[in-house]
Amino acid sequence: MILSNFHTHCDYCDGAGTPEDVVEAALSRNFDILGFSSHAPIASEPTWTISESDLPLYLKHIDELKEKYAGKLEIWKGLEIDYIDGISGPSSRRFKDLHLDYAIGSVHMIKSGDGERFLAVDGPEEHLIELIDVVYNGSVEKVTEKYYSLICDMVDGGGFDILGHLDLIKKRNRDNRYFDENAPWYRNQVRDTLDYLKNRDLVVEVNTGGISRGATDTVYPSPWIIREAFERKIPLMLNADSHVPEHIDFYFAEALKIIRDCGYRELHTLKGEGWTSFPIEV
Ligand SMILES: [Zn+2]
Ligand SMILES: [Zn+2]
Repeated sequence: MILSNFHTHCDYCDGAGTPEDVVEAALSRNFDILGFSSHAPIASEPTWTISESDLPLYLKHIDELKEKYAGKLEIWKGLEIDYIDGISGPSSRRFKDLHLDYAIGSVHMIKSGDGERFLAVDGPEEHLIELIDVVYNGSVEKVTEKYYSLICDMVDGGGFDILGHLDLIKKRNRDNRYFDENAPWYRNQVRDTLDYLKNRDLVVEVNTGGISRGATDTVYPSPWIIREAFERKIPLMLNADSHVPEHIDFYFAEALKIIRDCGYRELHTLKGEGWTSFPIEV
C-alpha cells in the first residue's frame, strides 16, 4: 500500500522540525510520498503562517529536497491555503502564480461581529464562544451554518486539490459541549455540504491532527460523515496534519480501519504523473 502524508507542517510555519527532519521521519517509516503543506501567508501575518519573506525560501527549499531525495522519496510542494471570507483564498491569483504541485483548501476562521477581526474555530475556545454568544446571538446553529457555507464558497472558487479537515468546527466540541453532532439540524448542514462537494475535482482528507494534538477523540471528518461521503462517491485521502515530524503517520492504522469500515476500498494520492487511486490494505 502507498504510504503518504500530504498535510505536513514544519518550522517554516507553526510546526517543529526542519523539512529535512520530516523527510528523515518519512524515510524511517518507509513512506513512498511526502507532501509539504505549510500555512500560506495571509495579510495579517499571524504567527502560525509562513511569513511573506520566507515563502520564496520555502518553495526553493522543497524543490531542492525533491531533487536530493529523487528515487528514495517522492516529494511534493504544496501549501495549506486559508479561505478568508471576502478577502483571499486558494483561488487568489497570487497562489496560482506559485505553480504549486497541490494545495489544501481550509477554512479556519469566521469574521467577528464588527468585521474587523477573524476568529479561529480551531483556536482558543474563547473564539468559538465569542462566535456563538456575540457574533451569532447565542445560536451555535448559525455558527456551524456559516462555517459550512464558507467551505461551499471556497469550493466554488476552486484553486485547490484537497479539502482540509472538513468538520474542523467540532475541534472545541468534545463531548458535544457546544452542539450535538447527532442533531438533525447539524447533520443536515453537513449532508448539504457533502452534496455540494459531490462530483467536484477535489479530494476530501481524513485528518488525524485533532487526535495527535489532544483536541479530538476521532478523525476529521467524523466516521458518520465519511460514510455519507462514501455514499456520494467522494474521493478520499488520509493525512496527518502533522506539526512535529514524528506525527506524520499518527493514528494511520486506526484511521485506515475506520475508512474501510465506512465502505471505502481505495484512497487517492498524487503520484508520478498525477492524481490516482490505490487499494487500502489494513
Ligand atoms: Zn488547517
Ligand atoms: Zn494543517
